[in-house]
Amino acid sequence: MTRIEKIQKKLKEKQLDALVLFSDVNVYYAARFPITDGAAVITSAGAWLVTDSRYIEAARAEAVDVDVVLYDAEHGLEEKLRELLSGAQTVGAEEKSLAYSLWKQREEKLGAAFTPAEQLVLDLRAVKEPEEITYLVKAQRIAEQALEEILKYIRPGVRERDIAAELTYRMMLLGGEGNSFDPITITGPNTSKPHGVPGDAVVKDGDFVTMDFGTLWKGYHSDMTRTVAVGHATEEMRRVYDTVLQAQLAGIAAARAGVTGQSVHNAAAAVIEEAGYGAYFGHGFGHSVGLEIHEDPHASVKGTAPLPAGAVVTAEPGIYLPGKFGVRIEDMMLIREGGIENLTAAPKELVIL
Ligand code: ZN
Ligand code: ZN
Repeated sequence: MTRIEKIQKKLKEKQLDALVLFSDVNVYYAARFPITDGAAVITSAGAWLVTDSRYIEAARAEAVDVDVVLYDAEHGLEEKLRELLSGAQTVGAEEKSLAYSLWKQREEKLGAAFTPAEQLVLDLRAVKEPEEITYLVKAQRIAEQALEEILKYIRPGVRERDIAAELTYRMMLLGGEGNSFDPITITGPNTSKPHGVPGDAVVKDGDFVTMDFGTLWKGYHSDMTRTVAVGHATEEMRRVYDTVLQAQLAGIAAARAGVTGQSVHNAAAAVIEEAGYGAYFGHGFGHSVGLEIHEDPHASVKGTAPLPAGAVVTAEPGIYLPGKFGVRIEDMMLIREGGIENLTAAPKELVIL
């Protein structure tokens, strides 16, 4: 089934005549073509990508399973959409990504009352197709290659911001389309801040360095974290590192299609709790990744829905001891029936540089 056919099936289930998508990621998902302005319209009769002259040539060549329609200054986007939606009684729209003001404005201009329907696209996006998985893996391999190179670069005296810049540069040289998000590359006591911002702090002998980063391939995000020690590691550093690793492995072992994200999170949290660090793991075990860096479903206390086969979810427990240090280890898991496939190939035993 094509993506458009999948959307059409969902529209029928929800008794919607049409779906209009404006968000760049949802439009990209539906039409396989990235635009910053325009829309995709899907009805039982067909599917259209409506765009302007900046994109039209490439869109006609690359968009999949949609008719590409041009709008110009004279006949604006809304006029084209009005034409395509004529006859549709119930029109689904994106209640999560469309700003309320635009929602109201477009309802008025299109002469339609929108029904919240974004979730149907998000549910489809949660289950990755084989092609999407190859893109996620490619993005991840680029990040891993960059990590391998950066480990040779990290030494006492290097600044946190240098590591961020080097990682970004190397991932782009390796073909990455940019950072999945601003890299978190922190050292020493800063590693106790799960989302610390790299600054002028320099790596010192005996520090942990935490690197949380990723790149994109064909619009798909990778996400990984590794924590390494420089020079040597104390007994406590080793104990915390090992606890995080065991927690991650416990969460990974609990993950498979049909279990809730919550139970995966709890399996990891139990290991950390047992080791006496329960108060120092405050975030969720994982989130899905895809066309966005944070997608549903999540493997966290809020994850009450069963994980579908085909979801790609991160496994990223951490322990953060304020004023001392923190450790996080993050992989990407492909959820399958009966277990997971780890899409991250980088080793996880404690590295001492
Ligand atoms: Zn991450
Ligand atoms: Zn993550």
